[in-house]
Amino acid sequence: MSVLSCNRNECGNVMCDTYIEGIGYVCRECQEEFKLYLQKTNINVEYEYDIVVALNIFMSIPKGRYSDSEEMTVDKFFSKHTRNND
Ligand SMILES: [Zn+2]
Repeated sequence: MSVLSCNRNECGNVMCDTYIEGIGYVCRECQEEFKLYLQKTNINVEYEYDIVVALNIFMSIPKGRYSDSEEMTVDKFFSKHTRNND
């Protein structure tokens, strides 16, 4: 582990300076995405334990899943999947 590679699923970043006991290295990109993840999933973190639990789940989710900033609504979802009949 001399390259300090990020432990996140599908993340190839190395030289991480953040190490969490029981979880491993977390790069800056994944830290930022983790914040978005918490917002979007409405997970409430008040204690260090909450963060560890949420981060543990987050680390197994493939990278980039929460990085797109565009909000998805039901209307947008259906229009995205609407076929043009012309
Ligand atoms: Zn990462």
